[in-house]
Amino acid sequence: MSMAPIVEAVDLARHYQVRQGLFAGSATLKALRGTSFSMPAGRTLAVVGESGCGKSTLARLVTLIEHPTSGILRLDGIDAGTAGKSALRELRRKVQIVFQDPYGSLNPRKKVGAILEEPLAINTAMSAEERANAAREMMARVGLRPEYYYRYPHMFSGGQRQRIAIARALMLRPKLVVLDEPVSALDVSIQAQVLNLLIDLQEELTLTYLFISHDLSVVRHFADEVMVMYLGRAVEQGSRDAIFSAPKHPYTRALLSSTPIADPRRRGERIKLVGELPSPIAPPPGCAFHPRCAYANERCRAEFPESIDTGGQLVACHGVEEGRIDETQSQGATF
Ligand code: SF4
Repeated sequence: MSMAPIVEAVDLARHYQVRQGLFAGSATLKALRGTSFSMPAGRTLAVVGESGCGKSTLARLVTLIEHPTSGILRLDGIDAGTAGKSALRELRRKVQIVFQDPYGSLNPRKKVGAILEEPLAINTAMSAEERANAAREMMARVGLRPEYYYRYPHMFSGGQRQRIAIARALMLRPKLVVLDEPVSALDVSIQAQVLNLLIDLQEELTLTYLFISHDLSVVRHFADEVMVMYLGRAVEQGSRDAIFSAPKHPYTRALLSSTPIADPRRRGERIKLVGELPSPIAPPPGCAFHPRCAYANERCRAEFPESIDTGGQLVACHGVEEGRIDETQSQGATF
């Protein structure tokens, strides 16, 4: 299946001016520092990293909630930076988002039917009857009973509310859905149900997912491709299998080893991630991960590592490039 990518990001950056205190003036917070990736239709790219790594900023750029400071963002072949008003309106319909908190994202004063019909009322010329039919059809698709049409969001559990939020996001038949930690506020028993629903919907409606998550055990079951971010940069990108079975970047390895794994043979190989995530206002020079990396050397402290293709995955690490870090070296290493 070779189709044009739904999302193409080239060196995307987003900076914010922040005040540092009453007299200190303002500083530049580089939430996203030049990130490139491409997403084919019908696939899932998971973006993972600790909080503050830039993944939520990336979600806001891709959903056109915010503009990038620099770089190019192409959605469904259209450059969002140069698109006119009507093209942008069209793009906004094609890209929808589901947020983490199903309690905060639904209007408590509206019934489920009205919540689902609202995007159609705003964006289409459909009649009231057509909108109601579309809402009922979508409710059936996401596993909500017909009588829920007349109920308010507070009458539902977290899992049901997330189904409502997913249904609302799909009303305009988007191509891309950004899933911003969509199950992390739900009970573990409910998470799998919602993830399975998302997988079914992806297949039925040919959806492309940008899946933002800090939870690698969820990503492992859900993603096709994985992008690991650290302080506003992608440090490793590749297929799910490559990232999980042969991670190369020291940060990816540390993240993975701090995730509980079912395989008993791999117990005891945990790499401890120590030290605080540095401030994105003053990221460390060279490789931003160097203060926490056991493999850091002089070059790492001075020179910024570009992403290089290591045969299967893209990795931004001098140590990997120089062959200083190999598979066996990571076993049992302590950060
Ligand atoms: Fe560690 Fe150097 Fe690689 Fe950064 S570039 S992750 S400091 S080895």
